[in-house]
Amino acid sequence: MTARIIDGNALSAKLRGELAAKAAELTAKGTQPCLAVILVGGDPASAVYVRNKVTGCEKAGIKSLKFEYAQDTAPADVLGKIAELNADPSVHGILVQLPLPKHFDEKAVLEAISVEKDVDGFHAENVGRLSQGQEAFIPCTPNGVMEMLKSIETPLRGAEAVVIGRSNIVGKPMAMLLTAAGATVTVCHSGTRDLNFHTRRADILVAAIGKPKFVTGDMVRPGAVVIDVGINRLPDGKLCGDVDFDSAKDVAGAITPVPGGVGPMTITMLLANTVESASRAARKA
Ligand code: NAD
Repeated sequence: MTARIIDGNALSAKLRGELAAKAAELTAKGTQPCLAVILVGGDPASAVYVRNKVTGCEKAGIKSLKFEYAQDTAPADVLGKIAELNADPSVHGILVQLPLPKHFDEKAVLEAISVEKDVDGFHAENVGRLSQGQEAFIPCTPNGVMEMLKSIETPLRGAEAVVIGRSNIVGKPMAMLLTAAGATVTVCHSGTRDLNFHTRRADILVAAIGKPKFVTGDMVRPGAVVIDVGINRLPDGKLCGDVDFDSAKDVAGAITPVPGGVGPMTITMLLANTVESASRAARKA
């Protein structure tokens, strides 16, 4: 059996078309959605992520503002900029690209972003709202995964879902979203005793580990939906996921590739949150 490929580029293109139409409608009524992106330091991977986000905005008719700071910038300068952007009614989303340099208190920076403009969904209040099923900005990567599952009509209610990874930005919110959708969720992590036992009984297997080709075909239940969140750079410069695509695709029922899987969906959901924030602001105006 060869798995169905869940094409993140194609799904993104469709959703971004819909978002561009919504953004144009809002702009015509006087509220152009606007995302402010803050980048501190010269990490090349972060610079690429920021560039892709800015380009994604431009193509969807969303205004973007980019603020770049040197590696040795004082945290107070960045916090000052966040306060300024919080107070600016023309800005609907604020994103601080992670990771921040070591002398920053990452949590304090994320908490400084107004909950109404926290389009990454990392603020503790948004996380709390999400866990209680209240209106919240959902973190972009797991939200993108949910869209991918929806696109292939994966039954979620009663499904066994296994998430490998318990990070605040992927694993934990992923587990919350799958639970809310009615799946029975197991979260595995570096302390899990028998990982294969869990992965082999998953109807839906989400890998968010950060280890290249870690999940091999023998760890996958035949017919399972395998979602590969990982983005790893191999020594030859090529990108690969946390799943060994070649062996897993022969066992899985559906699988996401890397690149061209979850990655583009993450940016799409960021654009979606920014448009949503702008439309909430327009309703209030
Ligand atoms: P993280 O380092 O914060 O978390 C990794 C998790 O993997 C941890 O919870 C850890 O317990 C678990 N883990 C590590 N070794 C393990 C093992 N041997 N067995 C079981 N679990 C193990 O990483 P993260 O920020 O969640 O990112 C994970 C991956 O997803 C990375 O490759 C990252 O680049 C990628 N990522 C992709 C996107 C995207 O847009 N596609 C977005 C965010 C992160």
